[in-house]
Amino acid sequence: MTDQTRVEIIAVGNELLLGDVLDTNTNWLCKRITGVGGQVTRAVLVRDDHQAIIAEILAALERTPRLIITTGGLGPTGDDITLQAVARATGRPLKLDPEARDLVKARYQELAERGHVDDPALTKAREKMAYLPEGATPVANPVGSAPAAMLEIGNSVLISLPGVPEELKGIYDGTLQPTLKKIFGDGFYEERAVIAHCGDESTLAPILSEVVAAHPEVYIKSRARRYGPEVEILITLSSAGDGRERVEGNLDHALEELTTALSGAGFDINRTDR
Ligand code: ATP
Ligand code: MG
Repeated sequence: MTDQTRVEIIAVGNELLLGDVLDTNTNWLCKRITGVGGQVTRAVLVRDDHQAIIAEILAALERTPRLIITTGGLGPTGDDITLQAVARATGRPLKLDPEARDLVKARYQELAERGHVDDPALTKAREKMAYLPEGATPVANPVGSAPAAMLEIGNSVLISLPGVPEELKGIYDGTLQPTLKKIFGDGFYEERAVIAHCGDESTLAPILSEVVAAHPEVYIKSRARRYGPEVEILITLSSAGDGRERVEGNLDHALEELTTALSGAGFDINRTDR
């Protein structure tokens, strides 16, 4: 695929690597990012460990993706250390951010009014969530208490989101949208799929290679769905970019060429929505 907006994800949490919690956040983010034309080029899981988180952030920054997202470890407890690691990795001190402090304070006021917590006071543990790396922008959390944090480093934007899935989704789909629109523009992603029936998968390869070479803007992937004498190959074509019309035009063009070439070679082709 050409010139896409590259994104890397770092999911933080011992529970993920202990096998206690399945990392659904990365999967959810991958779907969202792909859907607007971004390309997740790498995703990793790390423990709640300073050195491990710092090493991943430094390595990610080195690759200069447009966006780096961390999830997890923003909460009030001592094992929530993601922002400390971000601060260390980027050489910025962790400072009490007045705007973040107001967000956390207002949140606990609200929770107290609704009877979810007994005391609205901004305790030390609660205030911890308002310490951000210097220069970071707090991003309000419409669901939970810890605000997300956003930091621009060169051409990359580093966004730290909470681990609780509802909070991550609430921030991503809510308060973060203006920022994400700026990054991804009018990003659009679309797929088409066909099933080719053939006796010999290897005869498909040269035909696919030709279409792939002629359409660098379209990602074409094939995989066998059924083996045996009646082999079924699922071929998916996907493309992403600015504007629905252009993306759909590219896909239709590649699909037409592929269908013509395969039919000409004696394959039986059916469109499918998978
Ligand atoms: P909190 O304020 O609740 O402490 P946090 O940002 O510190 O939020 P974590 O403590 O890392 O988040 O995780 C809170 C809970 O969210 C975990 O117990 C787990 O159930 C869930 N969680 C964390 N990371 C993920 C993930 N990658 N995918 C799915 N669930 C997750
Ligand atoms: Mg936590």
